[in-house]
Amino acid sequence: MHIEPSPNRTANLIVGVDVGGSKVIAGIFDGSGPVRRLHVSRRSTKPERGPAAVAARIARCVEDVVDEVDATLADVRAVGVGISGLVDAKGGRVRFSPRLGWTDVPLSEQLRSLLGLPVFVENECNLSTVGVYATELPDKPARMLAVFIGNSVGAGMMVGGSLCRGFSLAAGELGHMVVDPLGPPCRCGSRGCFEVLASRSSIYERIRAGIAAGRQTQLSEVPERGGSWRGKELRRAFQRGDPLVRESVSAAAHWIGVGIGTLARSVRPEVLVLGGSLMEGLGDSMIEAVVRSAADPATGQPLHGVRIMVSSLGDQACIQGAAWYASTLTQPTRDALEDRVYLFRDGAPWAQPE
Ligand SMILES: [Zn+2]
Repeated sequence: MHIEPSPNRTANLIVGVDVGGSKVIAGIFDGSGPVRRLHVSRRSTKPERGPAAVAARIARCVEDVVDEVDATLADVRAVGVGISGLVDAKGGRVRFSPRLGWTDVPLSEQLRSLLGLPVFVENECNLSTVGVYATELPDKPARMLAVFIGNSVGAGMMVGGSLCRGFSLAAGELGHMVVDPLGPPCRCGSRGCFEVLASRSSIYERIRAGIAAGRQTQLSEVPERGGSWRGKELRRAFQRGDPLVRESVSAAAHWIGVGIGTLARSVRPEVLVLGGSLMEGLGDSMIEAVVRSAADPATGQPLHGVRIMVSSLGDQACIQGAAWYASTLTQPTRDALEDRVYLFRDGAPWAQPE
């Protein structure tokens, strides 16, 4: 598929966008050398207004961030967009996004007509994986698995410098992998899913259950906004040694370990990265318990040879990856978007079609 409009290769700016259920984040990057972030703008998503209105809000967020660095859209070479759900990257379509309530939305085309620029759309966990791989792993391991834990759980994988999308585009959708068949019910209808035991929402559920059972916690003094506490309120209570909060976080750390242990044993990546907003806030406190629980349940053996690390990118991972992705796909050697996209080779950005 040829890209229309074709990129202005003399333009050096790249915009990376993360479209979440509540906010749109756009980062502008200097793509002339190693991709370097210049500024970030934010806007609420307002998914209840429908896909066309959200596309217009994304375009405005891109225009804002370009204006913030005193540039114009003519200075931008390409835009990369990460969005949750099933994404057909080649066709530029969001096939299904439960969080936004979308089915088959031609987002690339909508944004291209609003901005007049090449726009590449991908799954947000895939682009967050690219962001971590590009900026936090200078040795560019042959196999790298990233698991992102926030209010939900997602993952992505790089193999041989290329993003592993899997058959039918759904690789990495492992929030509903069952880790405890006798566990609590999940919104998907199953029981004991990774997400229902390991996400930040699972920590809040345990704290609420504790409060309902008469336990004391500092969080009962803090009002829940938008249906939950804030990440920094959870971190503060944890750091003050609140017993109920500590127990709830430890339980999540245990299940994160069980989940990534299973994944690491099946994939055997050189590096397994834990990212997402829960890890950004509490990862350093949780990592020891996570690694302990990731040991083989039969032998008690730890994950020999698999380096487990915590990403410090937080919500910057997706915009970083989106910018790398768009930058790489508009290098002079490419004019088509292949099924398999090499983003790196020998540690350097690489965009030659296979
Ligand atoms: Zn589930």
